[in-house]
Amino acid sequence: MRRMRNVKVVATLGPASDSYGIIKQLYEEGVDVFRLNMSHGAHSDMRDRYQMIRDIERDLGRPICILADLQGPKLRCGVFANGKETIVEGQDFRFDLDDTPGDATRVQLPHKEIFEALEVGATLLINDGKLRVVVKEFGPDYAVCEVKVGGEISNKKGVNVPELILPLAALTEKDKKDLEFVCSLGVDWLALSFVQRPEDVEEARALADGRAAIMVKVEKPACVKAFDDVLAVADGVMVARGDLGVELPVQDVPPIQKRLVAASRRAGKPVVVATQMMESMIESPVPTRAEVSDVATAIYDGADAVMLSAESAAGKYPIEAVKTMHAVAISVEADATYRTGIEATRSTARDTVADAITAAAREIAETTEVKAICCFSSSGTTALLAARERPKVPIIALTPKIGTARRLGLVWGLHCVQTGEVGRFKHAVVSAARAARSHDFATNEDKIVVTAGIPFNTAGSTNIIRVAPVDEKSIFEGEAE
Ligand code: ATP
Ligand code: MG
Ligand code: MG
Repeated sequence: MRRMRNVKVVATLGPASDSYGIIKQLYEEGVDVFRLNMSHGAHSDMRDRYQMIRDIERDLGRPICILADLQGPKLRCGVFANGKETIVEGQDFRFDLDDTPGDATRVQLPHKEIFEALEVGATLLINDGKLRVVVKEFGPDYAVCEVKVGGEISNKKGVNVPELILPLAALTEKDKKDLEFVCSLGVDWLALSFVQRPEDVEEARALADGRAAIMVKVEKPACVKAFDDVLAVADGVMVARGDLGVELPVQDVPPIQKRLVAASRRAGKPVVVATQMMESMIESPVPTRAEVSDVATAIYDGADAVMLSAESAAGKYPIEAVKTMHAVAISVEADATYRTGIEATRSTARDTVADAITAAAREIAETTEVKAICCFSSSGTTALLAARERPKVPIIALTPKIGTARRLGLVWGLHCVQTGEVGRFKHAVVSAARAARSHDFATNEDKIVVTAGIPFNTAGSTNIIRVAPVDEKSIFEGEAE
């Protein structure tokens, strides 16, 4: 099965998409990556969903990418004697470590680290930013705040402290358990929530120990500030616009999105644009024009993937949401402006042999009639370079490793095929030609570009390129076997 677009579609699974039949239909309509959100649902649910996806993968004979999203350190207040209270602008309200149920004047905030990092004048946002208070005075176990925007505060509401870098580990005890669980299942990507610094990524990477690639969810101002350093140690990026739009003014989100997409593309690391892309489709079978435009913008910018959250996890129209995203992608990618934009924002090649070969493959594809760029990639490094070029012909990523084939499913333009081990370049060319033919990219009359690294199976070692006929009889022409 071949997708006729470059951008990938990520869909979150949940109660609305919880059977083999629906997940298979979602895949067939265009989902490339399934997301399991560890904030919602028990391990047993995750295991069942994971297994259904792997069953579909086996039944359809295509590698499928699975992303597990870890909850991260989401801060929450304690409980109230009455369940909820209304706080009023101009009043004082106190947060402390005392677990006595709260009232109209105070509530517990069971996170010692917050008080240690506070500053007078710091803003606390409650309930997705609906309430806002500012610190007037604080100690090691309390903070007295002036209410700036009042409203209802109730049990266990989320608290954001956007201006401060909190000495919170990016991974909570729950995250560590979840990480081990999903790695043992065999997920391909881990998404880390509320990353603030490069060390947070390193910590997860050590625990994952090569079993999954690491995606950073950018949703903290500190992460936006330190983005270059964070990107350097990440494998991929998610522009997590939900919490980002709470931690920062909403109008800051679009420029940040553009900046993160551009920087990730430059680094050759996949970037996902996420949250509220088709939000109205939770309830409606058709999206708003503004949502369609939002998805289109991400695609025009050259993002690797667009994502569905509640639309596919808990909405009424998961299939329609996927179909709509797919249709928008087809329309945008057929627009001449799309190609012009992608080419104008292409990154310059870097000074490695692998980069030069990959850029050459793209140039050959631009100036001659080749049907696909076929790149052999063991770890996936070379395939990422090929995608970074954003060529106008499809890229077939060939790898002997199923893990690599699955992981690369998230990346712009890559059609991943698992091959047997190849020992010699000639055999690589034959196997590329077969893949191009059997996956409907080319016929025997066509040509393909093949890149590989000799010796095989060394990461990033691409050093050979050939324009080859797809017809196997011609591949060996003029050569002594
Ligand atoms: P995150 O900050 O990680 O995105 P979220 O709470 O926004 O967390 P999403 O995965 O974006 O979660 O999904 C949006 C909403 O869909 C959730 O807030 C929840 O109300 C609903 N939902 C219900 N069940 C599930 C589930 N099993 N998986 C994902 N979402 C679910
Ligand atoms: Mg979030
Ligand atoms: Mg969300």
